[in-house]
Amino acid sequence: MTTAPATATAAAEPGYGYGAAAPEPSHDSPYQSYVYAYPHKTAYRALPDRPPLRELWAGEPQHALSLYLHIPFCEVRCGFCNLFTRIGGPDGLTTAYLDALDRQAGAVREALGEGARFALAAFGGGTPTYLSAAELERLCDIAEHRMGADLRAIPLSVEASPATATADRLAVLAERGTTRLSLGVQSFVDTEARSAVRPQKRAEVEAALGRIRDAGFPVLNIDLIYGIDGQTEASWLRSLDAALAWQPEELYLYPLYVRPLTGLARRGEAESPAQWDARRLALYRAGRDHLLGHGYEQVSMRMFRRVAAPQAGVSEYACQTDGMVGLGCGARSYTSRLHYSFDYAVDATEVRRIIDEYVATPAFDRALVGRVMTRPEARRRHLVQSLLQAEGLALAEYRDRFGSTPAEDFPAELAAFTARGWLADGAGDGHDGGTAGHDAGHDAGRGTDRGARLRLSPEGLAHSDAVGPMLFSPEVRTLMAKYEAK
Ligand code: SF4
Repeated sequence: MTTAPATATAAAEPGYGYGAAAPEPSHDSPYQSYVYAYPHKTAYRALPDRPPLRELWAGEPQHALSLYLHIPFCEVRCGFCNLFTRIGGPDGLTTAYLDALDRQAGAVREALGEGARFALAAFGGGTPTYLSAAELERLCDIAEHRMGADLRAIPLSVEASPATATADRLAVLAERGTTRLSLGVQSFVDTEARSAVRPQKRAEVEAALGRIRDAGFPVLNIDLIYGIDGQTEASWLRSLDAALAWQPEELYLYPLYVRPLTGLARRGEAESPAQWDARRLALYRAGRDHLLGHGYEQVSMRMFRRVAAPQAGVSEYACQTDGMVGLGCGARSYTSRLHYSFDYAVDATEVRRIIDEYVATPAFDRALVGRVMTRPEARRRHLVQSLLQAEGLALAEYRDRFGSTPAEDFPAELAAFTARGWLADGAGDGHDGGTAGHDAGHDAGRGTDRGARLRLSPEGLAHSDAVGPMLFSPEVRTLMAKYEAK
């Protein structure tokens, strides 16, 4: 499904992209782009030396890796979606894809060290439950037997759509150790689902939720979208209440984006960009306040967790620092020195070409497309991925890792956030005294207290999709601008 799960795959999803052909949001729009990982795949380029995986992983810490398996198939193409996926998998394509995944897993496992251990796993897409129950068994076998991930002992997150969340598939996933099942609902209002080009009936969604609860996953996540044509605050709250009736442990609230080459990009605009921004912001605030008033805490701009609900399992994995192994042609992998993946596209013909090439690949022992991680980029990544979480960035961890503070490394960016009121009062000042009101942009992130954190204010969190892009380096910004959407 669409979205970036809470823990496992936030860094692995192709996500709501950002490309040269995107309708440029106005300079001060709160909705510039969804930054769940840094840098975005549109900043990746072909790697001329095609480095062997064995060299890339040599010497990397491997005691708490994350494993992500990408399934690029869906029953329909939702109008808002620019993820790497295709409609349907005809003529044995899913079998061929699993065969390729198996070959890739074998090659990657060989490249990892003897002591490699997985602390977290996720199946994302696309729609992993597009696969049949037997194919899902095989997917779990690849993760367990080929890669050595002990799925029953670590958190495992799986994305599903209502139509494919069938009892037989859910039974396999529950039995194999899934701790979190994420369902893409988007809206419980049928007309809104149609408007977002995600045609599904509320009755089907409710039935799927019943099956998921019957299967007994510890954590249910429901994805909803705001900003759909015709959606009002009243209808948005109706959707939220319909979701709350299931007492989901997690809820993700996504602002609608319209991106190039998606179904919605070809539709006429019903309101001006400024009006749409204002409506999305108002719906965000209404949704956030509704959930905070119904026993949920805010984890990030998008994620809310039911207080006292079990988490998907405790994991040692830390997305800012630890390595990720992505399998499948839409997945990324991260070492400390290189982020790498395969080619990326949104257009249906291009996606099919890339999947066809992937299934025809005999050997997966080299990285083909990626971006080298320099020390300055690692700092930015750490800041982006921490600051966009409600709990913010632990200054002591940052100092331990980089020997500096965010205030020293990013003075201009933090000053800009402070000027907009996007940093929490006293954020990161530790016991230096409050920063609000006196040169906070300079002081923010300079804390010396081991417990001090640099955090966004509620308004900063509301503007997360503007905060993230403001932290991109000039080099990454240029690469993204030059990327040609395909
Ligand atoms: S179910 Fe829809 S939103 Fe999710 S990956 Fe498929 S097309 Fe995209």
